Amino acid sequence: MNSSLNNLARSVMPLTDPAQVQIVYNRVFAKKVCRECGALNSIRAVKCRRCHSYNLRPKKKEIASKKS
Ligand SMILES: [Zn+2]
Repeated sequence: MNSSLNNLARSVMPLTDPAQVQIVYNRVFAKKVCRECGALNSIRAVKCRRCHSYNLRPKKKEIASKKS
């Protein structure tokens, strides 16, 4: 648990319990990314909702340098 994660969670909703923060984090970042078109899909998705490809990969759990 790092501070950027806490800041992110607090920007979504006011959470102070680290366990709840972790839950929110998992819900936000537990995604699959289509290798064909790059669309984000639910972690439970079997195929891409945009191009219907089955070529999905799990999104890495990191908050790395997307902003700025
Ligand atoms: Zn796709």
